[in-house]
Amino acid sequence: MLYSLLMYVDTHCHLDFAAFDGSRSELMSACLESNIRHFLVPSTTYMSWQKVAQLALVYPMWRVAFGLHPYFLRSECIENIDKLGDVCEQEKAVAIGEIGLDFWPDAVAVEVQKRFFEAQLSVARELNLPVILHARKSYDVVLKMIRDANHTSGGIIHAFNGSLEQANRFVERGFLLGIGGTITYPRAKKAHRVVQQLGDHAYVLETDSPDMPLHGFQGQINTPLSIPKVAFCLAELRGRIVNDIAKQAKKNLLRLFPKWYEDER
Ligand SMILES: [Zn+2]
Repeated sequence: MLYSLLMYVDTHCHLDFAAFDGSRSELMSACLESNIRHFLVPSTTYMSWQKVAQLALVYPMWRVAFGLHPYFLRSECIENIDKLGDVCEQEKAVAIGEIGLDFWPDAVAVEVQKRFFEAQLSVARELNLPVILHARKSYDVVLKMIRDANHTSGGIIHAFNGSLEQANRFVERGFLLGIGGTITYPRAKKAHRVVQQLGDHAYVLETDSPDMPLHGFQGQINTPLSIPKVAFCLAELRGRIVNDIAKQAKKNLLRLFPKWYEDER
C-alpha cells in the first residue's frame, strides 16, 4: 500500500533524443503508471532547443532547460547564446542546461568550453535561473567558474561522481547532486562512500536516459522507468527505506524549484 504513495521525478533525462522517437508516448504512460510523474529534460545543442520546446507542449509533465552541452560544442556558434535568454523566457525554462566543462580527452579545447560556459552562466545570472551542470574531470574548475560568475541561484550537478569534499562544496553553493545509475554498480565503491555520507538535503534522483544504463542492463537503452531502482539502491546504501529517499528527493527538488508544480504547461 505504502508503495503507491511514492512519487518520483527524473531530474535529468534526454527524452527528446531520437532513441525515444518511436516509443515516447508509451514510455510516458508507463512512467505515470509507475508514479514517475515529472521529468527535467535539458537540451544539448542549439538544434535541439526547438524539439525540446515542441515536445514540452505535448507532455505537460516535462520541465525543460535550454543550453549548449560542453561535449557537443564542435558545431555550435557562440552567437546563439544571445538567443538563450529569450528562448528560456518564451518556453518557461526552469533552468539553463545542460552546460559545464568536459575534460575528456576527445572533447573540444578547454578555452572554447570555458567561453561557452561563462557566457551561459551570465544568462543564468541575468534570468536568476538555476543551472544543470555537466562536469567530467572538471569539478574544481567548474566550481571556480561558478564562484567567479557570482552564480547564486544554484542548480543540479548531474551524474555526480566526485569526492565527498567536492560534493559538499557544491552543496554549500546551493547545488543538488544528481544521483543516478552509477551507484547500482557493485564496483563503484567511491560513489557508494560519497552517497552514504552526503547530507539528506544534498541529492535528487536522475537517470540520464537514454544513457547510463543500470547494472545488469548494460548495452540497453535507459529510461526514466529505472528511477525506482536508483531510489532502492540509494535507500540501501544510506540504510533508509525507499519512501524516505523519494520524499527527501522531492523536498530537495522543491527547495531549488519552488514553482515546480504551479507551472503546469
Ligand atoms: Zn545529460
